[in-house]
Amino acid sequence: MQALRFDEGRATVFERIRECVSGPAVETVPLDTAAGRILAEDVCADRDYPPFNRSARDGFAVIAADVQAVPATLDLIGETQAGEPSRFSLERGQTVEIMTGAPGPENADAVVMVEYSQRNGRRVQLNKPIASGRNLIMAGEEVRRGQRVLAPGRRISFASIAVLATVGRSEVPVFRRPEVAILSTGDEVLPVGATPASYQIRNSNAHSLAEQVRRRGGAPKILPVARDTLAETQRLIEVGLKSDLLLLSGGVSMGKHDVVEEVLLGLGTELFFTTVRIQPGKPLVFGYCRDTPVFGLPGNPLSTMVTFEVFASIAVDLMAGASDSPLPFMGVPLAAGFRHKPVLTRFIGARLEGSYTDTRVRIDRGGGSGDVAAFARADCLAVATEDRSEWQAGDLMQVMPL
Ligand code: AMP
Ligand code: MG
Repeated sequence: MQALRFDEGRATVFERIRECVSGPAVETVPLDTAAGRILAEDVCADRDYPPFNRSARDGFAVIAADVQAVPATLDLIGETQAGEPSRFSLERGQTVEIMTGAPGPENADAVVMVEYSQRNGRRVQLNKPIASGRNLIMAGEEVRRGQRVLAPGRRISFASIAVLATVGRSEVPVFRRPEVAILSTGDEVLPVGATPASYQIRNSNAHSLAEQVRRRGGAPKILPVARDTLAETQRLIEVGLKSDLLLLSGGVSMGKHDVVEEVLLGLGTELFFTTVRIQPGKPLVFGYCRDTPVFGLPGNPLSTMVTFEVFASIAVDLMAGASDSPLPFMGVPLAAGFRHKPVLTRFIGARLEGSYTDTRVRIDRGGGSGDVAAFARADCLAVATEDRSEWQAGDLMQVMPL
């Protein structure tokens, strides 16, 4: 089977998964557990926002036309705090002392900040001209009652939580989480709680994958580790196929005991690709087995994490109800030059440094695809594309935050 380019591999996953996803079921969850889930329905404003003419400053509510020639001296007719109704209506030449978040008096169309005022008993001198509309947000200026404020298919962020809370949604309609079976393979792989012999290792992939799945709105289900035999690998794959999506780690390279592909084919899997020209992660299997999408991710911990992040994540996103699954790439200047052999697209753990006026990305070489400690220090993946071999310091490189 032909080795695909990075973008071809992603397009294949996207198209195949989109074919099989048919509107996941909807459930309702409490507001404070909704972040990270995918919103299932339109959310509309329950009333105008702001719901009343709201002062954005501490100061004096005025008719702006009264405060054109300064200093302007107005009659103070009262005071309104946040949390109380407005009891006043301005006439020309009058003002009301007002606090941030309080409703403006009738006829007011601006608020002069307290910093530009001098108070003398019932008279207030205002020292700065003001335009109509300043510091007083009119009812419905931000959002009209009934207007859509959140659209379905988007992941609920902390800002979406603010919107949901604002419009009074203590219960939120979200798509059901897809169950994602995680099956690690390898005779050398032991559960985290076990004491490994010198030639054994602990299962890190199942746990990093579970967290990656959770972050995308999936429900991970970690299966026992499969020994590298056809029988046991097949038995556990068949368990995993009962979930909505199956992620395997390990056993997809060319080694004598890499049995995953053979077992999948024996079970009648339709494979869409088995190799993508990326590093880490070149052997990467994607197919459908008995209507369940299956990824065979390479077992090296960095390969597993990176191939999930750039390929399998698409499946979890779409199956969790997201309408799209873009990667958040941005161009950042390199802190130092970089070269690679341009046959593969490389994803390299990197760090952002500098300040918000001069951000750079630094790529640390070294740290192989098993070096989880080095990778854990990275805060983004830098992408060295397969069509370019050299970047100078200062050249833009695409990076993707982790
Ligand atoms: P494989 O893809 O099975 O050839 O494995 C590649 C490398 O990743 C080997 O060094 C494995 O020991 C290691 N590895 C495989 N599975 C896991 C796992 N679940 N957790 C940590 N390392 C693993
Ligand atoms: Mg193995």
